[in-house]
Amino acid sequence: KLVLSNAHRFISITNLSRCISTLILAEHESGSIKPQTVSTVVAANHLGESSSVSLLLAGSGSSLQEAASQAASCHPSVSEVLVADSDRFEYPLAEPWAKLVDFVRQQRDYSHILASSSSFGKNILPRVAALLDVSPVTDVVKILGSNEFIRPIYAGNALCRVRYTGAGPCVLTIRTTSFPVTPITESKKATISQIDLSKFKEDAVSRSRYVGQSTQDTERPDLGSARVVITGGRALKSVENFKMIEKLAEKLGGAVGATRAAVDAGYVPNDLQVGQTGKIVAPELYMAFGVSGAIQHLAGIKDSKVIVAVNKDADAPIFQVADYGLVGDLFEVIPELLEKLPEK
Ligand code: FAD
Repeated sequence: KLVLSNAHRFISITNLSRCISTLILAEHESGSIKPQTVSTVVAANHLGESSSVSLLLAGSGSSLQEAASQAASCHPSVSEVLVADSDRFEYPLAEPWAKLVDFVRQQRDYSHILASSSSFGKNILPRVAALLDVSPVTDVVKILGSNEFIRPIYAGNALCRVRYTGAGPCVLTIRTTSFPVTPITESKKATISQIDLSKFKEDAVSRSRYVGQSTQDTERPDLGSARVVITGGRALKSVENFKMIEKLAEKLGGAVGATRAAVDAGYVPNDLQVGQTGKIVAPELYMAFGVSGAIQHLAGIKDSKVIVAVNKDADAPIFQVADYGLVGDLFEVIPELLEKLPEK
């Protein structure tokens, strides 16, 4: 009897590792899927060969349906797009979203629930994990198998190998710069299913209320996915001087970043902060002007392909990670660069 039950257990575990079904919380804006969602799909493909991927989109109105249609062909591995169309999901608040994920999961059993490590994912997934009574694994940079992951610790100075042993679904946030999207040639469209929300119950009293959102009206690329990032530090000294960084970014078609010191000093808004507590970037070219290179800043740039640093202190730590370093005064170097670089 004992042998039989052990064998049964062995078979179920083996089957479980083969049947990987992943639910990904998709981010969308103005009728388009955000690039970090596609990177999360790429990550999901590392969970196992026979994994099936479903995207969950929530929101309301025609832009949601446009995004759903785009999501259906965003990656060949996506088999289904689930759409929750309701005013309750107009804003990405953690409470209704987490309840929605739990509602969807009760109808279809997912082995993995993923979102990107963006402010959206970091806001919602811990709450989902709490509702499911499981421990989330955050900021995953490498997937070794369906339940084994690598994630950074100590501000990115060490990598930790984590094995998920919980009984419920494995809840992960993905550091998307570690899962680049390669050009997709295969055209395959997933099915789009509208979720029946008639039985969806939300708590009568929600503890959070959407107040507003302010975004910068700029044509510059998104900081998290830009190929070129130009960053300024405290040394810029003022809002006015920081405009030099913006002009340089415009000339190079890049995004603007800032250190926490520059953000705290009010030179730029805090959504431009790069680092441990800001955005993680992995551009082809990262240029840092007047940035000392504190470990908390380096934690956000270490996957950049080429790092260029300009600092007047030859001993600044940023030079230890820079591919090209120039000891000089940024107030001389940037104007010269602006003059010599051709117009876009
Ligand atoms: P400073 O360290 O003051 O460096 C200014 C540099 O400019 C110096 O190296 C100086 O030599 C150089 N300089 C001065 N004048 C000129 C000039 N004219 N030309 C050229 N160079 C010049 N920081 C982040 O950036 N991102 C984070 O996400 C982040 N998270 C944090 C989380 C925690 C928990 C903590 C404790 C700190 C965090 N920090 C973060 C702060 C971090 O420790 C540093 O204080 C910050 O990165 C320093 O910013 P900075 O390089 O602009 O300023």
